[in-house]
Amino acid sequence: MPSHTFQIDFKRSSKVAVADKKLKRALVSATDRFRAQRSLAVEGTQEWEEIKTRAREIKEHVIDNLDFYLEKLEESITKAGGVVHWARDGEEAANIITAIAAERGVKSVVKSKSMATEEIELNNAFERNGIKVVETDLGEYIIQLAGERPSHILAPAIHKTRDDISKLFSRKLGVPYYEEPEELTGIARDKLREEFLNADMGVSGVNFAVPETGTIVVVENEGNACLCTTLPRVHVALMGMEKVVPRFEDLSIFLNLLIKSATGQKLSTYVSFITGPKNILDNDGPEEFHLVILDNGRSKILADEVTRQSLYCLRCGACLNVCPVYRQVGGHAYGGVYSGPIGAIIMPQLMDLKGVYELPYASSLCGACKEVCPVNIDFPKVLLKLRSDFVKGREKGRRPGLSERMAIKLWRYAMEHRRLYEFISRIAYFAQMPFVERKGRRNGHGRIGSLPFPFSNWTRDRDFPAVAKKTFRNRWRELENENGDSEDKL
Ligand code: SF4
Repeated sequence: MPSHTFQIDFKRSSKVAVADKKLKRALVSATDRFRAQRSLAVEGTQEWEEIKTRAREIKEHVIDNLDFYLEKLEESITKAGGVVHWARDGEEAANIITAIAAERGVKSVVKSKSMATEEIELNNAFERNGIKVVETDLGEYIIQLAGERPSHILAPAIHKTRDDISKLFSRKLGVPYYEEPEELTGIARDKLREEFLNADMGVSGVNFAVPETGTIVVVENEGNACLCTTLPRVHVALMGMEKVVPRFEDLSIFLNLLIKSATGQKLSTYVSFITGPKNILDNDGPEEFHLVILDNGRSKILADEVTRQSLYCLRCGACLNVCPVYRQVGGHAYGGVYSGPIGAIIMPQLMDLKGVYELPYASSLCGACKEVCPVNIDFPKVLLKLRSDFVKGREKGRRPGLSERMAIKLWRYAMEHRRLYEFISRIAYFAQMPFVERKGRRNGHGRIGSLPFPFSNWTRDRDFPAVAKKTFRNRWRELENENGDSEDKL
C-alpha cells in the first residue's frame, strides 16, 4: 500500500466543519439542488422501484460470479486489441500506470474524473515520476489548483463558492477576478484545450464494463472525458473490479438509474462506449488502450456476506445529498477519498488507516441513504455490522474503552431486569442532580453538562438529557387513573 496522505480524525474535522457557516451554506444549497432534481426525475419514471430491484438482482449476480465475468472481460478486451492489467492494491495500480507512461516517454497526462484514481492517489505517483498531470473535469481542475481533495463523489468542488473560485483562478492562473460562471468556465476551457492538445496520455475511470463485448462506459457532462479518451495516443482506464455489468442490454437499466440518481437528467450529455484502441476504420482514438483492474481490498469486502453489498455502489452520490451528517460536515471531514454514507462503509473496508473505524459511527442510522440508493444498499445493516466488528475487535483499530463496554453491559443487564430498571430510574433522578445544568432543572427538562470520569468521553461530543422527575411508567399510571385516556395525553 502506498503511504496515504489521508488523515482520518472524523471527530476533530467534523467539529471544525460544523463551525464553518460558509461551508454549510454551500453544502445545503448544492445538495438541496441535487435532491430536487433527483426527486423530479424519479417521479417522472414509471416503475422506478422495479428497475431498482432488477439492478440489485443483476449486481448480486455479478458480484457472486465476479471471477467469471472479469476473465470474460479480459478475453473480450484482448480480442478488441486492448491490454488488461491486474492490480492487487493501489500501489501496484499506480506503478503499472506510471510504468506504461515511462515506457512510452509520456511527459504530460490529461485525466478525467475518477474516484478510483483518487483512491490510489495517482496524481502523486505521476508527479513523483516527473510526469505532468492535469485534471480536466472542471470541479477536479478547481480542486487540483487549490491543492485539495474532492469533497463529493459527483461535485468535487461542492464546498467552494463562486467567490472562492474567482479568487483561486486569479491567484493561480494570473487572470483578472471574474465573477460570472460563463467567464470562469471560459478561462478553464482555454487552459484545458492546450493541455489536451499537448498530452501524450489520457487517463479515465470506468462507470461500467461489459464482458460480453469488452466495452467500457464513461458517463460525463462536460466532454472532457471524450477528449481524454480519444485525443492522446495512449488511453489508460482504471476500474474498481466491481464495475462489471454482464450484458450490453443491462446498460439501459444502469445508465437510467445512475444518471437520474446523480443529476436528475434523463441522460447525461456524453456517454462514451469504448471498445479497445482505434481500429483501421476509425479516424480518431488512441493507438493503445489499457484497462487496469483494481482490487485494493475489494476481495476482502466480497468475502463478507453482509458488507459485500458495498460493492454494488454506482457512485451516483445520491446518498451523500440526503445524509444529515454529510450535509452538516461535507466531504473533507471524512478524511479520505470517499465520503458520506458510502464513504462510511467502504473506507473502513478498503483502507487500513488510523481513525478509519470512526466512520461507521458518522451516521444517525436514519436510513435516508438506503431509501435513495438506486441499488438498495442496506446502509444501516452494513454500518451496524462494521460497528459490531470494531467492538468485537475483529478488525484492527482502537476498541471502545473499558468504561464504555462496562456501561453498555450494565445497561443491558438493567434492561433485562424490570425491577432493577425501575429502581435505577427512581434513584437516577436524585443521583444526577450535581451534574444537571441549572437551566431547566425545575421543570425537569434539563441536560447534563458533562459526566464525571470515567464517563466523561460520552458527553464530550453529545448532549445528555437529564432523567425526568417522573418515570414514563408513573406518568402512564397516573393518566390511566385519571381518565383512562392515556394515549392522547402522552
Ligand atoms: S451507495 Fe447507492 S446512493 Fe450512494 S453513491 Fe453508491 S449507488 Fe449512489
